[in-house]
Amino acid sequence: MVVGGGILGQAVARELLSRRQGARLAVLEAEPRIGAHQTGRSSGVIHSGIYYEPGSLKARLCVEGSRALYDYCDAKAIPYDRSGKLIVAVEEGELGRLDELERRGIANSVVGLRRLGGDEIGAIEPYARGVAALHSPGTGVVDFVAVASAYSEDVAAAGGTLHLGTAVHRARPLADRLLVEHSRGTTIARQAVFCAGLWSDRLAVACGAPADPRIVPFRGGYLKLGPAEAELIRANVYPVPDPDLPFLGAHLTRNFAGEVLIGPSALMAPARDAYDLRRARRRDVGETLRWPGTWRMMAHHWRAGLIEIRNAVSPASFVAEAARMVPALKGAKALPGPAGIRAQALGRDGKLVDDFVVHRTEHAVHVRNAPSPAATSSLELAKLIADELDAA
Ligand SMILES: Cc1cc2nc3c(=O)[nH]c(=O)nc-3n(C[C@H](O)[C@H](O)[C@H](O)COP(=O)(O)OP(=O)(O)OC[C@H]3O[C@@H](n4cnc5c(N)ncnc54)[C@H](O)[C@@H]3O)c2cc1C
Repeated sequence: MVVGGGILGQAVARELLSRRQGARLAVLEAEPRIGAHQTGRSSGVIHSGIYYEPGSLKARLCVEGSRALYDYCDAKAIPYDRSGKLIVAVEEGELGRLDELERRGIANSVVGLRRLGGDEIGAIEPYARGVAALHSPGTGVVDFVAVASAYSEDVAAAGGTLHLGTAVHRARPLADRLLVEHSRGTTIARQAVFCAGLWSDRLAVACGAPADPRIVPFRGGYLKLGPAEAELIRANVYPVPDPDLPFLGAHLTRNFAGEVLIGPSALMAPARDAYDLRRARRRDVGETLRWPGTWRMMAHHWRAGLIEIRNAVSPASFVAEAARMVPALKGAKALPGPAGIRAQALGRDGKLVDDFVVHRTEHAVHVRNAPSPAATSSLELAKLIADELDAA
């Protein structure tokens, strides 16, 4: 059984069925459709693997995963645009961090990565300005819901079944099986993989896993440029990120629908589904505030937190951040855009967990941290999770 029908749950179900032909496998998804949470609310960027610490799971699975994803899209005729991306250093003080990104990109074998001088930026993005940049021609954009739906079709073709509108509450070992309680009753499964995104910690704890790490929801809000300003951006323009945070910084993305978005922000959210900022859930707020790691993290990152609050209340300051890289955007009006919520694992020690994390409980595997670039990495991360299940 697989719990969670986002891109990762579907990829895992597909991988398991390819290893166990003829096996019975059910995917249980709480929502009435595929991709209702992170998968359907991302930037849609196929990352090339620049940012991640060499040797980490993210580094390996992103580089291999993006290659596998492009091949998969070709095989299934899923459209994508390998439009490339620039990471722009706008001032000298950012050059050290750009050097480190270049070092990581080379160590991770990112294909085609190239350092540009300030005078070479305009050839890639005519309106972007900076003192130096990294260009990654292998970065692209795709509709991750289309990808997850294609995985789901593979699952169905291999005999798996998808149960939408079926929320799992808990699971407990019963001799050599697992008794899974859900909104439609109970099911006995030989094994289960939990890919529950924003609710992954809750389900893991309900199955006997340790409470550490906790999921803290970080809302990523976007603004959308109007048609005239959107003409200023060809593809993807990113800032040099804060190396202390696992987020990439507010960037400009020409997404697969052709819209140019600014974002996402990274604001702690009062609900795991606070797509509408007015939505707050007592249980979610309580779990965040009672977690010792939350207070330790806030003590460390309060400055970044204040900037996020300012950007959330003032679209003009969010646009001004983008205008550091593309000065012609100064004073531009931007429309409200979509929002996603990141399932970000936070340790008891206050550290935002950077790498992918997978835990085992009896007869089950739990994905405890699968933030970006997990959508890009989904085919390769699914193999790692299936290996973990095979070893269970
Ligand atoms: C704002 C934002 C921008 C991002 N940009 C990118 C990007 O450009 N590129 C990239 O590679 N990644 C990006 N990501 C990350 C990427 O979206 C996620 O890593 C990926 O979607 C994780 O997939 P998932 O299947 O684990 O999670 P989800 O898509 O969240 O799926 C989890 C599923 O589990 C279901 N579920 C939860 N609880 C239960 C339960 N109790 N019973 C049954 N079902 C349950 C949920 O309904 C949900 O459908 C971004 C994420 C965000 C939020």
